[in-house]
Amino acid sequence: MASHAFRIRSITPEAENVRTVMLTPADAGAETYAWKAGQFAIVTLPNGLERPWTIATSPLMGTGPTFTVKVVGEGTKALTSLQPGTLIRLSDAMGALTLPEDAALHKHLFLASGIGITPMVAMIRDLLMRHPGTPSMLVCCMESEAAFPFREHFDMLAATRPEFTYRAFVKCDPCEGRECGRLDAERLLALVPDIAERRVYACGSGGFMRAASCWMQVLGVPP
Ligand SMILES: Cc1cc2nc3c(=O)[nH]c(=O)nc-3n(C[C@H](O)[C@H](O)[C@H](O)COP(=O)(O)OP(=O)(O)OC[C@H]3O[C@@H](n4cnc5c(N)ncnc54)[C@H](O)[C@@H]3O)c2cc1C
Repeated sequence: MASHAFRIRSITPEAENVRTVMLTPADAGAETYAWKAGQFAIVTLPNGLERPWTIATSPLMGTGPTFTVKVVGEGTKALTSLQPGTLIRLSDAMGALTLPEDAALHKHLFLASGIGITPMVAMIRDLLMRHPGTPSMLVCCMESEAAFPFREHFDMLAATRPEFTYRAFVKCDPCEGRECGRLDAERLLALVPDIAERRVYACGSGGFMRAASCWMQVLGVPP
């Protein structure tokens, strides 16, 4: 498998226990690194650990690939402890959770829980840049306001891009205007009455994905 060398440019807090890692290309292959919004790369760290992480940016942004990780174990602790300038290696981008070629012809619904937000933020950014005016909505479930990655980014997008809306279900300490408690098929339908007409993308924990699959069946969303 091809691998591409990048150096750590910066590591910044994104939410409680969540960090965003920005990279600088360090070889010719990395300069022209190609990916589709929503895809991931297998990252090889200097200590030899390998982990798949989603590229949280759109290629149209001009920032290169970035990762946003929840620090939970060996790999994420090692990644987020690296010093700027440290070399890491990325596989070619892979994965089928991407926007369709004819994305401009559809309305979209992005469903995410926790750190499963990373492919969604990449696709939302891409859709807004590539196909302005295409309706999209994000419905996400988070443990708390503090643990909600990209919260300010989504607030800014919702305030400036009328074609994008989002609703967050926050379990603990929701701020004013947030939904609280658990998402279910009934609440989802109330938020997105035209759900059966939308392209739906989902990413999150195993439990969230099982629930999302049931909601889609109940609400008549084609697989
Ligand atoms: C396609 C894909 C895309 C992904 N994208 C992202 C992304 O964008 N961001 C992201 O954060 N993650 C993403 N992941 C998950 C990622 O690959 C890692 O699994 C995750 O970051 C945890 O890696 P880690 O090495 O830090 O944790 P690990 O050390 O592998 O630990 C995994 C889990 O096991 C627990 N654990 C570890 N050791 C023990 C122990 N001794 N006893 C009990 N529990 C233990 C940890 O607390 C943790 O919850 C993605 C996964 C896939 C498959």
